[in-house]
Amino acid sequence: MKRADRDPGAVIAAPAKPATLVVAAIVLCLGVSAGGAGRAKPAAADPVLPSSGLNTASKASKAATLLAAYPEQLERIEDNILVWKKDGSQMGFDDGITGKDFDALLEKPDIEDQFTMSYPRGDQTSPPAKNFDPGRFRNDSFFAKMYGDCSKGEVAPHLVNVAWLPKKGGGQVRVTAINGVDKKLKAISDELDALPDRFTPYLVSPGGTYVCRVIAGTERRSAHAYGIAIDINVPHSDYWRWSKPNANGTIPYRNRIPNEIVRIFEKHGFIWGGKWYHYDTMHFEYRPELLTAEQGAQARTQP
Ligand SMILES: [Zn+2]
Repeated sequence: MKRADRDPGAVIAAPAKPATLVVAAIVLCLGVSAGGAGRAKPAAADPVLPSSGLNTASKASKAATLLAAYPEQLERIEDNILVWKKDGSQMGFDDGITGKDFDALLEKPDIEDQFTMSYPRGDQTSPPAKNFDPGRFRNDSFFAKMYGDCSKGEVAPHLVNVAWLPKKGGGQVRVTAINGVDKKLKAISDELDALPDRFTPYLVSPGGTYVCRVIAGTERRSAHAYGIAIDINVPHSDYWRWSKPNANGTIPYRNRIPNEIVRIFEKHGFIWGGKWYHYDTMHFEYRPELLTAEQGAQARTQP
C-alpha cells in the first residue's frame, strides 16, 4: 500500500479514546489513501510553482529568519554555511541549484528552499493556488540534526507526554521536548480546552503525533517522525488524496476545521496543512521559521 504523504495511523501515547474510534480512524485513512495509490508523486504531471505566494526575500533575510526561529540550535549562517550550536557541525544552506520545479523542491530541497513559499498566517478565506504548499518542502538532514533520526532511536528519548484538552477528556499525546515543542503544545491545548463545546469534535480524539516512518516510495520522512506534528480528529478532517481531481486536473479544496482552532496553533509556532494545495486539514506541525512577523507581513502583501 502506498501512502505517499503522511501517516494517518500515527500513534498516541495512551488509550485516550475508545478503541473502536481509533480503528475507525485508521481504517478510514488507510482505506481512502489506498485509493490514491498509483500517484506516488503529487502533481508530477504538472510540477509548476504558483505565480503568487512565493517568498521574494533575500537569501540573507531567509537565513536571519531561520536563525531567529531556532536560537537554541543554530549558531550562525555565514558564507552559505549553517553552523550548529550543539556540536559545531556544518551544513550547506543553499545548494546553488536554481529553477527547481515543484517536484524537485519536494524531493530534494536544500535548507533555503524551505522558504520558497510564504506561509499565509491568519484566517483561511480562499482555496490555495495550485501547488501552493508552504512548509511541505523539508530538508531531512536539517530536521534530523535538530530532532534526531528516529530510525536510529534518536527521537524517542526526547518524547514526552502532554495532556491533550484535559477538561474535555482528550487523553495524552506524545511530542518532542526539543525546542520546547511539548510546552508549546501544552499552551495550545490549554487555549483549545477553553473554547466553547462546539469545537470539541474537531479536537478530541486526536489522530496521532509521533510515528517513525519514511514516506512510501521515498527516503523522506514525515514531520511526524520528528515528534513535531499532531493530527487532530480525523473524521472531521479532509485530505487531498481523499478527493478526485476535477476534469482540468486540479484538486478540489475541502475544509471543515474552524479558523479559531488554526489561530491558536499558529500563535504558538505551528503551521496548518489546511493552507496547502495538497491539503491535510488535520495536520499541524511546529515550524516557527514560517510564522515570524516578517513572514506574516510578507504573506499579507501577496495578491
Ligand atoms: Zn499529520
